[in-house]
Amino acid sequence: MGEKQARILAFTNWKGGVGKTTTCVNLSAYLVDAGKRVLIVDLDPQGNASIGLGIAPRKSKTVYHLLCGDCDISEAVQLTSVKGLEIIPADVDLAGAEEELVRMQGRERVLKNILDQARPSYDYICIDCPPSLGLLPVNALVAADALIIPIQCEFYAMEGIAQLMYTIKLIKKHPNLNPNLAIDGVLLTMENRGNLTEQVAAEIMKYFGKIVFKTRIPRNIRLAEAPSHGKPINLYDKRCAGATAYANLCKEVLARHKGIK
Ligand code: ATP
Ligand code: MG
Repeated sequence: MGEKQARILAFTNWKGGVGKTTTCVNLSAYLVDAGKRVLIVDLDPQGNASIGLGIAPRKSKTVYHLLCGDCDISEAVQLTSVKGLEIIPADVDLAGAEEELVRMQGRERVLKNILDQARPSYDYICIDCPPSLGLLPVNALVAADALIIPIQCEFYAMEGIAQLMYTIKLIKKHPNLNPNLAIDGVLLTMENRGNLTEQVAAEIMKYFGKIVFKTRIPRNIRLAEAPSHGKPINLYDKRCAGATAYANLCKEVLARHKGIK
């Protein structure tokens, strides 16, 4: 056994419906395919990542119990429909966690303290963030080594990005929070062919520069269908355009991390 430690990635954007969960689940599945040990942490009370990986709601301990100190990490980790991919699931109970966290000492670091213990067991820990501001996403930003920011190719794409960047700045400035937080990449999602996409892409590349992934995720109905079958795209339809895109994203992520690890 080496001294390998997981890289913790948070999939975040304050805006809803931009492809955070789709990216978290499918990138994780391809990382497993590439031989990596991956844990997904579902940090959204909607529980989309959990349901999309075939976890039955309310059958098990969830991230809510873990954050409240009601169970330890080994009790909260579940197997998914993907061999080798594990998850700490969430359900609607997690909506109550903000209230519990407010009362805790070191309330921004609760998730970090838990996930740091799990680092030796995985290569990647992928946190699926909710589309909101508040203590849950702040916990994700404090726990993470780096962020992956999916942005939907649409007219209002950059809405909320300024607030997200401001929050990242505050978290990095604070010595007790996360001075080393990095952005591993910005991902263009739900791309349609046409001028608007190119305009939005140009705007995003102007703002973020080289950290924008070369891979873009096309709008592809198979990606939207897969979760209802409890499967990531590589097990649902590995030949579709969406699958190819996430496979390419995985290669790009692994190549970027070679230099970091
Ligand atoms: P939320 O903010 O609610 O957590 P999210 O940012 O996690 O949303 P997703 O749930 O991944 O976004 O995607 C929103 C919706 O769009 C879902 O129904 C999903 O299946 C669909 N979707 C995501 N990516 C694509 C794509 N590339 N092509 C087609 N549909 C997609
Ligand atoms: Mg989501």
